[in-house]
Amino acid sequence: MIVPELLTQVREPWIQRVSQALARGTGVRESFVAELGRFYDLMVQAVITGDSAWLEPILYDWARSPTETDLDQGQYHVAFVMNRILSLTIEVAREALSEQDALDYIATVIPVFSYGLEVVSRYEMETRLTHISTEMSDVQKKMEQLDRSKSGFIAVAAHELKTPLTLIEGYASMIRDLAASLQQKTIDNLLEGMNGGINRLRQIVDDMIDVSLIDNHLLSLNLQPVQVGQLLDLLRNELVPIILERQQTLDLRKFSGSDTWIFADPERLYQALRNILSNAIKFTPDKGSIFINGRTLPGFIEITIEDTGIGISPENQALIFEKFGQLGRVDLHSSGKTKFKGGGPGLGLAIARGIVEAHGGTIWVESEGYDEKKMPGSTFHVLIPARTDAIDPRLTKLFDSLDSNRTQPDAQETT
Ligand code: ADP
Repeated sequence: MIVPELLTQVREPWIQRVSQALARGTGVRESFVAELGRFYDLMVQAVITGDSAWLEPILYDWARSPTETDLDQGQYHVAFVMNRILSLTIEVAREALSEQDALDYIATVIPVFSYGLEVVSRYEMETRLTHISTEMSDVQKKMEQLDRSKSGFIAVAAHELKTPLTLIEGYASMIRDLAASLQQKTIDNLLEGMNGGINRLRQIVDDMIDVSLIDNHLLSLNLQPVQVGQLLDLLRNELVPIILERQQTLDLRKFSGSDTWIFADPERLYQALRNILSNAIKFTPDKGSIFINGRTLPGFIEITIEDTGIGISPENQALIFEKFGQLGRVDLHSSGKTKFKGGGPGLGLAIARGIVEAHGGTIWVESEGYDEKKMPGSTFHVLIPARTDAIDPRLTKLFDSLDSNRTQPDAQETT
């Protein structure tokens, strides 16, 4: 028999055998059968024309097909599959053809297969190299980011830690040098100043520890029944003196969901909301306004903190949630916790995001942009999952009855 006839005769048993041996599962097999048909026909073309390059398009497709997971695990499939197909081809030829025809057939297809194997190995190597170089550039980007973050940390930490330390040293040396001649009232004032510096230092160190817990996914939550409205009331009470000092108004609304008992970590949630609200105060000029509102969404409670401050440019709206994402100059850090545009270490929003995300929630900001003349303001959104299923309904009733003994805040309270 002449070779083209041999090729036609072997086609069907070959497809059947190879697909059964290599593709498990009917769904997979159907598409594999079509691919094998395409491979076989291109192989026939290669034999007839004497040009093995006919196989290249399909080999190229196969070699490029490994998934990212295969590549990550260093698996090379196609060369292995090609070898397996070759040995199945020899088996099928031996079974379907006479001895002489089988020899002719095998002698014809082997060079095409060796060419194919060479091509596949080259393509696979190229795919692997591309994958490795993408991985390397990803790693390099991460290292650069880490390096920037490290330099940022050193610059900000040095400044943030040094400022209160210098303050404490100053007060301490005044007390030491002048203690004998100072009146008790002056000593008290100096001690108070020293205490302020110590508190600031403690807060910065605590923030740094929190950020490192968040970075290492070690932030553990102490989940308890919580009412968001109650946390916001406490927060308002804490920040009222600063708001009054800055002659701002705080409009805290009561919203649907604010008195729902949800499962959350009250201290951490308070800390996150406090960081956002402190910023709203800081980045809003004197006499500006802050509005706190919220609503219930399916499965979530949304809290919004809106201000009439300097706003945030679109390109910085994601950056500010990164640690050291402060947008000002390093030398302005430590310039004040409540002062207009007073700089901080740039950890507050990174911590807020870490806490909110640890709850399974999300946080983002909306602002028309940054403009210190027009004061477009910013609105921070916090979505917290309304986990109520874990709370025994009897407890909710008990909390509600205890809660009704508390003075109910008005529907809207403005400070
Ligand atoms: P910082 O310690 O600098 O306040 P944060 O992480 O709390 O650090 O905030 C990061 C930066 O985001 C701030 O330095 C400021 O530039 C910007 N920012 C945060 N909140 C607001 C806001 N309400 N209005 C305008 N800018 C804000």
